[in-house]
Amino acid sequence: MDSSNILEINKLTQQFKSGDKQLTVLDSVSFSVAKGTVCSIVGPSGSGKTTLLGLCAGLDRPTSGQVILNGINIGDLNEDERAAVRNDFVGFVFQTFQLIPTLTALENVMVPLELRGEATKEVNAYAKELLTEVGLGDRLNHYPTQLSGGEQQRVAIARAFINKPQILFADEPTGNLDTETGETIENLIFDLNRASGTTLVIVTHDLELAHKCDRVIQLRNGKIASDEWIEETATAKVKEA
Ligand code: ADP
Ligand code: MG
Repeated sequence: MDSSNILEINKLTQQFKSGDKQLTVLDSVSFSVAKGTVCSIVGPSGSGKTTLLGLCAGLDRPTSGQVILNGINIGDLNEDERAAVRNDFVGFVFQTFQLIPTLTALENVMVPLELRGEATKEVNAYAKELLTEVGLGDRLNHYPTQLSGGEQQRVAIARAFINKPQILFADEPTGNLDTETGETIENLIFDLNRASGTTLVIVTHDLELAHKCDRVIQLRNGKIASDEWIEETATAKVKEA
């Protein structure tokens, strides 16, 4: 593992059985992501983007191949150990928010740190601070059903930020939002990279968003069809790292 990479994927293959047929969703995919960079993953619906992101973040296990996250080969870990890795340095923003319906906005944001066993008072204060940052300081005690889609996504972002992740995975984070709300969400995510140097891996079908990233990886039929750097500055950023 090159220590300037926060993520390395080696020959990652994911197959699913459907009836008596074998479906190869990811076909020996390899790439690395340098620390502090912003990478987008694009591709048609069904090309394996969500599957890839879930594997990279340690949410699922591949059929074969390796995922090395921050120097840790997560294939060697059991479910609990992978959960611990995710809690230590991974943030994940789901397309469909995935908030817990029985918890308020504030409680949803607190969950990751409560899982770590951190003191409730401090966690509570920090969660409030984050919700205020994403513009929801007056929605702390709202339940998910009492929030708009954009507001739910902002809660999900605050939850993803609370453990100060070194790498944030976002699966079409603006996909279910109107343009204006989408831009707000986009800015919040990019700010995390600018302010904290968090590495971002963003799945999107929005080519405009993809081209604001340092790099665009295009998936097609479970393989990388292209892998392009957007700006000179992006390459410079890698060299600096
Ligand atoms: P994308 O996010 O690019 O739209 P996905 O990664 O969600 O694509 O899915 C890629 C393909 O894998 C789809 O054809 C989907 O039906 C299939 N697939 C995803 N997850 C499973 C699963 N758990 N079991 C069977 N097939 C799956
Ligand atoms: Mg998807």
